[in-house]
Amino acid sequence: MFDVCIIGGGIAGLMLAHSLPSSLSIAVLTKEDSFSSNTALAQGGIAASIGPGDHPTSHAMDTLSAGAEHAHAKRVNLLTTEGLAIIESLLSRGLPFDATEEGLPLLGREAAHSTKRILHAGGDQTGKMFLQYFLAVTEDHVKRLPYSSVLELIVRDGECVGVCVEDALGNRSTIQAHHTVLATGGIGQLYSQTSNSFVATGDGLSLAFHAGAVLEDLEFVQFHPTVLTLHGQSHGLISEAVRGEGALLVNAAGQRIMTGIHPLMELAPRDIVARAIERHWQQKGPVFLDAQSIEQFELKFPSIFKNCTDLHIDPERELIPVRPGAHFHMGGVQTDEWGATTVPRLYAIGEVASTGVHGANRLASNSLLEGLVFAKRLASKLLCTGFNFVEKEIHLADGTKEFILPADLQLRMTQQVGILRNVETLQKFNADFPLHRFDLQQYSSQHIKDIHRYTASSLIATAALLRKESRGAHYRDDTPEASTQWTGKTVELSLAGHTFGKRLVQQKETVL
Ligand SMILES: Cc1cc2nc3c(=O)[nH]c(=O)nc-3n(C[C@H](O)[C@H](O)[C@H](O)COP(=O)(O)OP(=O)(O)OC[C@H]3O[C@@H](n4cnc5c(N)ncnc54)[C@H](O)[C@@H]3O)c2cc1C
Repeated sequence: MFDVCIIGGGIAGLMLAHSLPSSLSIAVLTKEDSFSSNTALAQGGIAASIGPGDHPTSHAMDTLSAGAEHAHAKRVNLLTTEGLAIIESLLSRGLPFDATEEGLPLLGREAAHSTKRILHAGGDQTGKMFLQYFLAVTEDHVKRLPYSSVLELIVRDGECVGVCVEDALGNRSTIQAHHTVLATGGIGQLYSQTSNSFVATGDGLSLAFHAGAVLEDLEFVQFHPTVLTLHGQSHGLISEAVRGEGALLVNAAGQRIMTGIHPLMELAPRDIVARAIERHWQQKGPVFLDAQSIEQFELKFPSIFKNCTDLHIDPERELIPVRPGAHFHMGGVQTDEWGATTVPRLYAIGEVASTGVHGANRLASNSLLEGLVFAKRLASKLLCTGFNFVEKEIHLADGTKEFILPADLQLRMTQQVGILRNVETLQKFNADFPLHRFDLQQYSSQHIKDIHRYTASSLIATAALLRKESRGAHYRDDTPEASTQWTGKTVELSLAGHTFGKRLVQQKETVL
């Protein structure tokens, strides 16, 4: 039995473990090794208003604006204010952010930020540097349990009392805890095209759904325009910064594809670039990034260079084939501003949570920050709540029933619930893959994992069908505009069915 059981060892899970006192017993479960996560892949950096003349209010304004009138203004304010304080504290504790010769943080600028405020570490290896830092400072009271897949959340008398887990040898057991925290990350691998780690299969959404929690904003999936794509397979992200340095989007004949689509061409908003590339693929054929004009590519983008050359593509001399892929999930398990879900003793932080800070579209480099801020807030909440839980007798069945995962599920997600969706494609998907509650214990472990993939996919498709407008990253070509009727409304899904909640969208001026 643990005081706190954290499911997930990315930035959110590790920040929480690090923020709790050593008097507590803490378990951090990861379904693979410690470096298999989206955090490990984060290239661009982390946003904070640390530069001269910058301010959390300005960062909040940019965040609200990217969120397409759907972000929760008060929480955005928490994100940017508390985020800055956390970054300052990490800097003083020696997290090795890249610095100028004077020792000041080297700041980059990314799309839709009004100023330079992106800190990075190890060049394009910011996420990995965070993991290394947290793993180095994590103390003995934190028990790391790699290769431990959570199959089910255990709910007794309306409270979450722990998890059912499968270990590396395939044995099932239970772990009880005073508090259970979902830090399971994103959903990219539900799609055939993605930038995400292979562990990002949306387990947290299905675990929470089956535990009776409310989920919201699931229709808001951000697609990154440029995922390296070879023979229909995704091979990691080519960061926006490469286009920022002058790389062009071209067809096989070397002609630019953004001509006539947007005056900013390659540097148009992410959604517009992504839709243009996808339409080109569907109607005319492959799209490439031409980065041959970038000097010292290897020095500027060491990880991307290595990824390309591992695939026998020399970015300094050849075109890089790219296609949009699922990148970040704005929605997730509904939480309050402290990370509490609607199920007592169950919490959610990081990408799996819907805190409302991203609204309908995430501002670049805000997600690592969200992981840090809400993990720290949750640590304070748990300390106030206390640890007064009595261990229960729990008997779980070791089911053997099979569930056959549809072989074309990922492809259908890309084609029907992807970057270009409409009522027809969504209805077709929902008819073939309806949302369903499973009695998880009846199934064998491998089949439960497949059920989680299936459920997470149908949750997203259901929400996308319910929101009859286009907003932020949710683009339906049957309703291509945002509708005032939907402003401030959230689509909420739970075992009780669907409802429409309210999002606190206020005028920026009155809140900040
Ligand atoms: C290629 C790429 C580049 C990015 N670049 C940036 C960037 O520059 N800046 C930025 O702010 N954001 C960036 N992001 C987004 C950001 O990396 C993620 O949103 C963030 O790292 C998520 O952190 P997390 O802790 O919530 O989840 P993750 O880091 O994904 O960790 C999830 C953890 O949950 C575990 N887990 C999942 N399911 C189970 C289960 N059933 N049982 C046990 N364990 C489980 C996994 O093993 C893993 O340890 C990028 C994302 C990608 C994919």
